[in-house]
Amino acid sequence: MTARTLFTRIIDGEIPGQFVHQDEHCIAIRDINPAAPVHLLIIPRKPIPSLAQLTAEDQALAGHLLLVVSRLAEQEGIAGQGYRVVINTGEDGGQTVPHLHIHLMGGRALTGHGT
Ligand code: 5GP
Repeated sequence: MTARTLFTRIIDGEIPGQFVHQDEHCIAIRDINPAAPVHLLIIPRKPIPSLAQLTAEDQALAGHLLLVVSRLAEQEGIAGQGYRVVINTGEDGGQTVPHLHIHLMGGRALTGHGT
């Protein structure tokens, strides 16, 4: 059995998280160490390790996650000014939690390409 990830433990309520969205397929929480005034993590309930492990079976889920990102940007009031969406993938991508997640950042002008 694979170890449960930090994000699975947040989803299951074992570790606190500031939830801004929950549905059947995913949750969204505020990042504990925000890189921008708005910094959310959109996380599928399914513990896919990273974008590299996404399969054709996950196609609908992947689309759903992007729609949730777009709706949350509106909800957070950053859709008009613009925002950044990042998926760190694997070691060189700077991924630290091995459970697929999408960073949504905004609320200030972002420069460069990272989080
Ligand atoms: P990664 O580097 O894997 O793309 O992103 C992991 C993100 O999770 C980081 O931005 C980090 O600040 C955030 N993070 C790590 N631990 C926690 C936690 O316990 N709660 C929340 N809300 N975010 C966390």
